Amino acid sequence: SSGEADAPGAGGGAAVRTAPVVRATPARFASAAEALRTVFGYEEFRGQQQAIIERVAAGGDAVVLMPTGGGKSLCYQIPSLLREGTGVVVSPLIALMQDQVDALTAVGVRAAFLNSTQDAAARSAVERAYLSGELDVLYVAPERLSSESTKRFLERGSIALFAIDEAHCVSQWGHDFRPDYLALSELAERWPDVPRIALTATATEATHRELTSRLKLEGAEHFVSDFDRPNIQYRIVPKVEPRKQLLDFITSEHPGDAGIVYALSRASVEKTAEFLSSHGLAALPYHAGLDASLRARTQSRFLREEGVIVVATIAFGMGIDKPDVRFVAHIDLPKSVEGYYQETGRAGRDGLPSTAWLAYGLQDVVQQRRMIDDSPGDLAHRRRMTQHLDAMLALCETVQCRRIDLLGYFGQPSGPCGNCDTCLTPPESWDGTVPAQKLLSTVVRLQRERNQRFGAGHLVDILRGKRTARVEQYGHDRLSTWAIGDDLSESQWRGVIRQLIAKELLKPEGEYGVLTITPASAEVLSGGRPVVLRREPDRPERAPRASRSTASADLAAADQPLFEALRSWRAGQAREQGVPAYIVFGDAT
Ligand code: ADP
Ligand code: MG
Ligand code: ZN
Repeated sequence: SSGEADAPGAGGGAAVRTAPVVRATPARFASAAEALRTVFGYEEFRGQQQAIIERVAAGGDAVVLMPTGGGKSLCYQIPSLLREGTGVVVSPLIALMQDQVDALTAVGVRAAFLNSTQDAAARSAVERAYLSGELDVLYVAPERLSSESTKRFLERGSIALFAIDEAHCVSQWGHDFRPDYLALSELAERWPDVPRIALTATATEATHRELTSRLKLEGAEHFVSDFDRPNIQYRIVPKVEPRKQLLDFITSEHPGDAGIVYALSRASVEKTAEFLSSHGLAALPYHAGLDASLRARTQSRFLREEGVIVVATIAFGMGIDKPDVRFVAHIDLPKSVEGYYQETGRAGRDGLPSTAWLAYGLQDVVQQRRMIDDSPGDLAHRRRMTQHLDAMLALCETVQCRRIDLLGYFGQPSGPCGNCDTCLTPPESWDGTVPAQKLLSTVVRLQRERNQRFGAGHLVDILRGKRTARVEQYGHDRLSTWAIGDDLSESQWRGVIRQLIAKELLKPEGEYGVLTITPASAEVLSGGRPVVLRREPDRPERAPRASRSTASADLAAADQPLFEALRSWRAGQAREQGVPAYIVFGDAT
């Protein structure tokens, strides 16, 4: 009577109490290896799959941190087949449930889903199948599972296991929080005998800790995979003309290849797709503002045709399983390293060489800071977003191997990879302390002496001594820092500014990204902190001229009182913004 709910097996207890006639889906395979071969047609397990499957099949809980494409699905699908009852899979990817169910059905697994896209008839057919023990796997949208009626319904059947896919969505501080996931903490109390497996490709220690405690998985075994994707080459270039740069990149390195291009806004998605199409590439736009049927068609063309490029917002890609995506390009800065890693992780799932290409510029930083400032969340939320952005900037501006930085962010130590842009063309680093001081002094002077703040463009004009209308209007040619920076080109100065922002020595604010100093600026101004900058290797420009060092020495001497004041400001005596009003400068001009 192994088909009966009261047979020994997980989830039987609850079912016996409320619905004695219910049937548990019988176990279908004797071993994990047999299921792997006969159902999925694979010869070997990958990575830690086997250990994970054995743990869950034996009734234990598991937390699985495995990179995108690592093969997380099998870790709950096979235990669902090995155990009596139905494997209930919680997934936020409602749009993909149909695909997943189709793929399982095609290999003979009895699968179905419950989500808001279904009509009543379809839903009750699925419910009947579940209650009569005819389902191996049931996908459920998280908002369903947070409703009491769904939980009561599930109690009437027999559950083999709960799988919580994309489990990082439970983390309020993560990059992809879904409030419905919080309700999943209840599963542990309500079904104490049903094993639970939480899976995610987000591997920061903070997320790991948080999901473990929120999902009450303290007793789980943790399976943390190697997060390196050695076949992906990481490259980050300064943004000049993003669409043209992107086109050059694709046509020279990936002609005819399938790829994903990420952009931040819908407008940019559409313009970029149009631009690429006008140059003969098979590029399709994808964002949440497009009609659902068009999106579905785009997705299926991407999956089924060769060489299709999808230009998308981050609405595209989660859960999409296409092995031969040869490149993932970002023409705007991702909001977090986690997001960047997940998005780039969609390249090269087949293990063949692939490229992760990102163009980023000052404007990205300005724009994202503004979005954070304007975001509706509370202060803690904004602080978290800022931390995410800062980590992303640090990755962009690193002078060491990108992979070391990336894996280090996920708590995985590694050595230089020999395959990223910084390994292949090590960026020269140079002592940018003096330029940093010149720039920061200019910002401080304008702010303190004239109560003015400006964006990067105008500051660079002042430093380079460029007589623009605005310079004339404000009399900025009378500033003591006027023209002291003509040893660097405009793009070098922009690089300096970007890097100072990445190092939190300068902060863009407001709609126009006016630059202000930060508490850490003082140390640089006082000469107490050297600033090592990277020189972009692909656009060699001349080094700073030694002849200007006199000017900067003079400048440093003249600014001693300022440095002192800034130091005490840093010690915490001052308001959050700006240098305290008691600082009096001599006439600097
Ligand atoms: P994830 O959810 O971790 O991103 P998936 O579960 O979608 O990854 O699996 C990615 C791809 O790897 C799928 O095409 C899957 O069929 C394949 N795969 C998983 N496990 C194996 C295996 N043991 N052998 C070969 N292919 C596998
Ligand atoms: Mg997955
Ligand atoms: Zn490297």
